[in-house]
Amino acid sequence: MDQSSSNRRQFLAAAGAAGAAAVLARSGRVHANSGAQRAEKLAIEGGTPVRKTPLRYRPYGPQFYDEVEKRELLDVLESKAPFRWHGESSKALQFEQAYAKHIGVKHALGVTSGTTALMTAMAALEIGPGDEVILPAWTWYADYDAIVLAGGLPVFAEIDESFNIDPNDIEQKITPQTKAIIAVHLQGTVADMDPILDIARRHNLRVLEDCAQCCGGKYRGKYVGSIGDIGINSFQLSKTITSGEGGAVTTDDSELFERAVRFHDVGVLRPPYRDDFRGGVLAAFASSNFRMSEFTGAVLKGQLEKLETICGRLRANARKVIEGIADLPGLKLRKWPDPQGDIGVGVFLDMGNRQRRDRFLRALRAEGIHAGGPGGSVILPVDKRIENKVTVVARWPSFQSPRGRAIRYGAACCPRTLDIIGRFGGVIMDPNFTDQDLDDIVRAIRKVFLAMAVA
Ligand SMILES: *Cc1c(COP(=O)(O)O)cnc(C)c1O
Repeated sequence: MDQSSSNRRQFLAAAGAAGAAAVLARSGRVHANSGAQRAEKLAIEGGTPVRKTPLRYRPYGPQFYDEVEKRELLDVLESKAPFRWHGESSKALQFEQAYAKHIGVKHALGVTSGTTALMTAMAALEIGPGDEVILPAWTWYADYDAIVLAGGLPVFAEIDESFNIDPNDIEQKITPQTKAIIAVHLQGTVADMDPILDIARRHNLRVLEDCAQCCGGKYRGKYVGSIGDIGINSFQLSKTITSGEGGAVTTDDSELFERAVRFHDVGVLRPPYRDDFRGGVLAAFASSNFRMSEFTGAVLKGQLEKLETICGRLRANARKVIEGIADLPGLKLRKWPDPQGDIGVGVFLDMGNRQRRDRFLRALRAEGIHAGGPGGSVILPVDKRIENKVTVVARWPSFQSPRGRAIRYGAACCPRTLDIIGRFGGVIMDPNFTDQDLDDIVRAIRKVFLAMAVA
């Protein structure tokens, strides 16, 4: 409450009419003959929109499907071996090896989705009943669900202005039962890994990186998924590269990897993994089938070749937009813990509070620019099924322990997350936006932001 009202005061002070008028004058966007300086008339108030044809991003990966993916897929059809353990050479295995090499880890395992990758990572980390796992209050359901389905107890930490877990809120959530922290790199922005790793080291906790929204992102020169104890990725349609559905688990730790491989394939190790692990050091255990299909492996092997192109273009486009609006008075952008490694999925502005944010977004959409609040995630603690701890059967181990019964989710456990997600708004980048498109985004943001500043 205090913090948000003081942020708002700062915002209003910084974005005061004097500063706005100066920028308006510089950008030549004032009506010279009006007594008081006025901003250009907004489309939402009947003015001419910046664009006649609305601009919005499209899923990234499929825009780059070409002969490469076609050839890889055709190989699988012609081989008549769509199952990874049959046939001469597996596309899923080739993808795993290429992906591990690309991000700089010893081991990568292809699975059926990001969700099953998280379930596999939970098994690899031996998370079970009685264990607590700390995760951000703003992320995708799968992080919470994987913990609960393993029988563990999810404990939420607040996010900060990077939209990622706030390292300063982790330590007070640690109890003797805490076993791991999930650092999620959300909407293209890497989480601040150094303080997270430092806390984990001091408290003997494991760090799981969820890279589903940041494939290709880097933190201090290292690819996400190669920094914590174990990483997961998703290749669902809305991620950086895609095979429609798909996922991966990555790690340098051979014991975690063996447990992951066994868990994803009915408890066994098959060639080449059986040979790599010389039969393995673990026994079989109750497990699952999350094996990647050869068709999925084929498409992902092709998509991996496009990863740097997609990230490079997104990053460059986001930079152009940021440069174009950098001089706006009182501008506050989303925090980028490592600007070099950010993949530039979007450009988000702090509009001070929810009403102003919503007005900003409505006005931008009227200008023909698809704009929105932070997306692709849910404020999990206020989701009804989570607030009410609903499970398939009521006697689920997660919520049977004294801690599990006592823990309260809901709005009271994440006020800062609710505030931050409510006051930021922005535009999602597309790797194929043209200079004209980027120019239009900059013009529309400037127009609306300045009109709101003098209003
Ligand atoms: C998409 C996503 C997942 C789950 O991936 P699926 O492939 O959809 O199962 C997990 N975590 C985050 C942060 C995601 O965005």
